[in-house]
Amino acid sequence: AQDLLVKSEKLLAVGELAAGVAHEIRNPLTAVKGFVQLLSSSTSEKQTLYHEIIESELDRIEKIISEMLLLAKPQPVQYRPVDLNENIAEVVRLLRAQANMQNVSIVTRCDGDIPKVMAVDNHLKQVFINIVKNAIEAMPHGGALTVSLTNIENTVFVRFSDEGVGITEKIRHKIGDPFVTTKEKGTGLGLLVSKRIIANHNGALEISSNSGEGTTVTISLPVSFEASPLD
Ligand code: ADP
Ligand code: MG
Repeated sequence: AQDLLVKSEKLLAVGELAAGVAHEIRNPLTAVKGFVQLLSSSTSEKQTLYHEIIESELDRIEKIISEMLLLAKPQPVQYRPVDLNENIAEVVRLLRAQANMQNVSIVTRCDGDIPKVMAVDNHLKQVFINIVKNAIEAMPHGGALTVSLTNIENTVFVRFSDEGVGITEKIRHKIGDPFVTTKEKGTGLGLLVSKRIIANHNGALEISSNSGEGTTVTISLPVSFEASPLD
């Protein structure tokens, strides 16, 4: 029965991932389509810019697919010591173009030495990508996203604070449930998958927000723990 439960949870996770993949890829694909259409009718200066955007969006799609495939692999995963500074720098690099296009500045802060945490590097990246994307999407008129790292007694806290629209009281308790989204093109799966990944790491994901006052997502991760070989 234990095996069956694990198996059905895995199937569910794969289904969620499939939807997640579609969601994550639709945005850059829409951008590529739009700029391809614009290409023929624009000046050569604009064309160079459009080519660059198209190329970076295609890179993004490629990266997302390879990371999603890693995540969907039904094999035992390897927990290894992960440098969160490096992991987050890579995530920020991936999303920098999207942030710039929306006048969002991303600042990373590090409070003292951050020990490596036992984690699945790509899974954590996927979580951070989801959260940074949500923050960017919450600031359609620009703003700042601050990502800070702190270590308190062998628990590392990763805090994402944005200046976006915030979350209204009406739906606050439902956020993170499957398919709960306030976005026209959202799936409401990002936080669900993120919470599951963080739970597999024996960590926690908390959201605090007031409508109009920005949102803070705090993830805590133990530096070490006994990982289950099954997730
Ligand atoms: P999606 O992004 O597809 O809507 P998520 O699970 O990532 O799905 O997020 C669910 C919902 O949580 C979003 O639609 C949004 O209403 C809310 N949300 C998440 N992060 C933020 C944020 N940083 N600021 C405001 N609302 C947020
Ligand atoms: Mg999202």
